[in-house]
Amino acid sequence: MEARQTPAVVIRVMDHGEADKIVTFYCPERGKLAGIAKGAKRSKKRFLNRLEPFSQLQLDYTPSRHSNLVQIQQVELLNPFATLRSRYDRYAAATLLCELVLFWTRENDGDQLLFDLLVWALTSLEQDAPWPETIILFQVKLFTALGYRPHLTDCQGCGKLDPAQAPYRFSLSQGGLTCHRCNREAGSTTLPLALSTANLLRMAQDLPSAKLSRLRFSKTSTQEALDFLKRYGTFLLQRDIQSWAHLAPL
Ligand SMILES: [Zn+2]
Repeated sequence: MEARQTPAVVIRVMDHGEADKIVTFYCPERGKLAGIAKGAKRSKKRFLNRLEPFSQLQLDYTPSRHSNLVQIQQVELLNPFATLRSRYDRYAAATLLCELVLFWTRENDGDQLLFDLLVWALTSLEQDAPWPETIILFQVKLFTALGYRPHLTDCQGCGKLDPAQAPYRFSLSQGGLTCHRCNREAGSTTLPLALSTANLLRMAQDLPSAKLSRLRFSKTSTQEALDFLKRYGTFLLQRDIQSWAHLAPL
């Protein structure tokens, strides 16, 4: 079959047998794309240091008639994001971003906005933006892009947003805030979410990526937002994302 080209970001690399690697990319038009790099573990020249996690590249590949696994022909490295591999906190954050994309996206279902969002987040981490905020902002935008935008504008029950009706909780099953009067759910399907944190998250939903750095999260809001996004994502996906456990301490 004819060779094709696409921009791509490497989101996972696995060894395959003695000599090969299986690499998963996210691409703006194809979405998630897995390919085999024949001889990548041996031939040092052809793929040298180019098929590493987080690398942004131009990919040449040949589709296969019989499987979703394409043949990786060659790659041109556009940005290796190499500094993300030299510091643990950045590395762990970038690994989480890639794992989120891996489990939240599908093959043959590309999204240019999502691709741009991933590149934006990797760039932010490389430029030394605070990694917890980068993860928070990335996930808020990811949920919006996927159609799972949490409802943070007002209470799902009474439609008000009134500090007098605090504490507010977030209902995982309803995907939105409930005030203390309207909340009828007990236990594990709701979690506390302070209005100050909910407000920051709501602003992040509406701001363009270029302006997200204007938002300032306190340490308490950062912790609460991370917990909230992790729980909401796990609830929606019905699976754990392992990289959450490997983030550096705040
Ligand atoms: Zn209410």
